[in-house]
This record gives sequence, structure tokens and C-alpha cells, in this order.
Amino acid sequence: MSIQHRVAAVCPNCGKVTESKIRGTVNIGLNPELREGVLTGRIRRATCPFCSSEFNVEWLFLYHDPTRQFIISYHPIIKDGRTAPIPTETLDVSEKVLCNYNLRLVTSWNHLREKIGIFEDGLDDYPADARFPLDMYRTVQQEVIKKFGRGWERGEWMTINQGGIGRGKR
Ligand SMILES: [Zn+2]
Repeated sequence: MSIQHRVAAVCPNCGKVTESKIRGTVNIGLNPELREGVLTGRIRRATCPFCSSEFNVEWLFLYHDPTRQFIISYHPIIKDGRTAPIPTETLDVSEKVLCNYNLRLVTSWNHLREKIGIFEDGLDDYPADARFPLDMYRTVQQEVIKKFGRGWERGEWMTINQGGIGRGKR
């Protein structure tokens, strides 16, 4: 399903609070027409009703391709270099997915586009140690140590599936 949210955003031009309808989740299998808007970034663009300027609404976004079996979760950096907490919606979806799904977290829209391109071409993306910004990487690393008793090693992959965090060799 492709879910819409009402999001309050401050217009960067006039400073007024606006409300926009933003898609928080896109299932490209059900709504293939939305893919283009994701790649162009149009899907998160809003027009201010007060001054008519266009701006991007930073909001959590989940891109789901059921055919190629990947999910990319976009977490914009909200403040102090941190992202917003992961919504339960994301966790619900990742619980349902099969083990062979690729799940990735990104914090920039360009990375989102890049990952879509990589997975659509059936290519591998980066190894685990290059995938996350450092503080997010450390948080996940702590979870991995808690679960497996040791951290990642170079060249390993991380997956999130029904069993929680998983790991694997390239
Ligand atoms: Zn405005």
C-alpha cells in the first residue's frame, strides 16, 4: 500500500506553517506510476499556500519494490546529525518481508535514488561498513554486538528481516 500523511512543515521562504499531504510509503508494485516522482524528488515537494514557493518536506519515507524485493527507508537528518526514530510502520513492514529482502536505511534523497538504481539493475550495493552514517552505524553495531557477541567485520552484509538483524559474508 502507498500511505499518505498530513505533515506540518515550515515554509523556508515565508516562515509560515503549512500542512502538506506527503506519501510516507510507496509500494511500487501497486503504484508503479509513483516511481518517477520518487526519482525526481517531486513526491516530497510542497507548494506554500501563502507565498507559492516550492520546497521539500523532510519526512520519513519508505520505498518498497515487491518484485525486486527491496525496501529503502529514507530517514532525513532532523537535528544534531540524528534522524527521527524509526516509525513502527517501517518495523511492521520489515517484519513481514522475506529473508531474502534487501532492506536499506538512507539519510539522503540522492542515496535513495542511487539504491533504487542499483537494485533495479540487480547489482550489489556497498559493504556494510560504507552503508551508514557513522553515528547510525555505531548504534546498529551495538545491536549487532548485543545479538552476536561481536561486531561486524569488513566485507560483511547486514540485513533486517523477521529474525531481526542478520549478518552475512559477501
Ligand atoms: Zn511560504
